[in-house]
Amino acid sequence: MRALYPGSFDPLTLGHLDLIERGCALFGEVVVAVLSNPGKTPAFSLEQRLKQIKVATNHLNCVSVISFDGLSVSCAQQNKADLILRGLRAMSDFEYELQIAHTNRSLAPDLQTIFLATEAHHSFLSSSLVKEVASFGGKVDHMVPEVVAEDLHRLFN
Ligand code: ADP
Repeated sequence: MRALYPGSFDPLTLGHLDLIERGCALFGEVVVAVLSNPGKTPAFSLEQRLKQIKVATNHLNCVSVISFDGLSVSCAQQNKADLILRGLRAMSDFEYELQIAHTNRSLAPDLQTIFLATEAHHSFLSSSLVKEVASFGGKVDHMVPEVVAEDLHRLFN
């Protein structure tokens, strides 16, 4: 089965990577779809985010990385995905994710959304937290793949 994993990935964290790895084991194929126009201006360009994910998932031959604009369900249909994969970290994610899942199902009834609970030790990780820590010179090596840590270092130094 092919899972579409859509998100902003600004930038990719070890939590995202964990979800991609487990998605591969469960479904066989994961298409990571990077949103090209997140609501606010991203810290990393679309090209940078695509490269970060390609480098960080280089060891996995079940992953492909694409960009998209607009509706996740349209992207899933165009790429012949069987399901949409999303992650749940805490209750705070739940309401928002459930709303999106119901909306997507109303648009594309055949497309299921599957949620994976994050690993407990990744549950505090978010792209915005990682950027905040890096902007104040904090260590982020345990939060992001090496390629992202290098890019964050360049961005804030
Ligand atoms: P979006 O802007 O679409 O929420 P994100 O890049 O923030 O994009 O997140 C993409 C998906 O990855 C979401 O389903 C989110 O819940 C999930 N996610 C984010 N951080 C983690 C994490 N630390 N562990 C597992 N899943 C996560």
